[in-house]
Amino acid sequence: MPTNFSAKNKMNKFKHKHSLGQNFITDEFLLEDIADESGITKDDYVLEIGPGNGALTRCLCDRAKYVVAVEIDKTLLPLLKSNLKDYKNVSIINADFLNYDFQNIINEFKETGANITSPTVGADIIRPIKVVANLPYYITSPIIQNLLQNPYISDMTLMVQKEVAERIVADPNTKDFGILTLACNYFADTEMIMIVSKDCFFPKPKVDSAVVYFKKHFSHTNYSDNNYEKLFKLIKASFAQRRKKLLNSLINAGYSKEVLISAFDKLHFDENVRAENLSLDDYKNLLTLLCSYSYNE
Ligand code: SAM
Repeated sequence: MPTNFSAKNKMNKFKHKHSLGQNFITDEFLLEDIADESGITKDDYVLEIGPGNGALTRCLCDRAKYVVAVEIDKTLLPLLKSNLKDYKNVSIINADFLNYDFQNIINEFKETGANITSPTVGADIIRPIKVVANLPYYITSPIIQNLLQNPYISDMTLMVQKEVAERIVADPNTKDFGILTLACNYFADTEMIMIVSKDCFFPKPKVDSAVVYFKKHFSHTNYSDNNYEKLFKLIKASFAQRRKKLLNSLINAGYSKEVLISAFDKLHFDENVRAENLSLDDYKNLLTLLCSYSYNE
């Protein structure tokens, strides 16, 4: 492992940008732990979003076959390049991840000889890229949505705010269970793997963080899929007034009362059930029944 991490002076002069979520990890043990928990090996192609000063990137390079790191802040590049100069298995891209063509990231891996083909629909779909990142908190949700829907990505190890992590891994019947939980459940199995004190960062954020591991399901490659749109239209309508009974929320959203009562009856849902009481499978079953009624009308 290269030991030259000599850019401390440059780091001291760097002015962190709150607007870009620049809270860098300062705890060396935590960096190693995150890289270990991600389970990446010398066979893996890894994408890091927001490498910052490159401290986590170094741990990833030590373990991965190749790392592509996408950093929005041009002023970090000299520091980042200096901190990664001993590594041959890393490319840095200066871009806004959310507005960057993912094909360019694939091409970056391909240039190293990686055999990355387009994932195909089917039971044994191969997803060639893993993601590890301490996410910029101001865009956590859009990045997670983007990664969940990206068919090239097999799994993600992501640091997020603790409150967000609790919503991602929440169980039904809890206050944290909601649209974010169901969206994550649709694409992946999730697990909170560690809670991280705000003292492990500089500058110190106001809240604690947590690392969540996402293991993507093998199916769901067709993300413009009509069922997905319909399912999340139903779920959003259900949670629009989460304190109300689900039946009333859906009636208010324009679903037919008679059809809903009949569907609830068939699915053995209590008429007083609320949005957070149903699992993803319950919502899928409800949608199937609602669709079957509209076909029969
Ligand atoms: N990886 C470093 C660490 O763990 O210490 C820094 C993580 S810091 C929480 C988030 C990083 O994401 C910052 O370096 C920030 O400049 C970068 N960033 C913010 N918005 C971004 C975007 N849209 N695309 C790529 N990087 C972004």
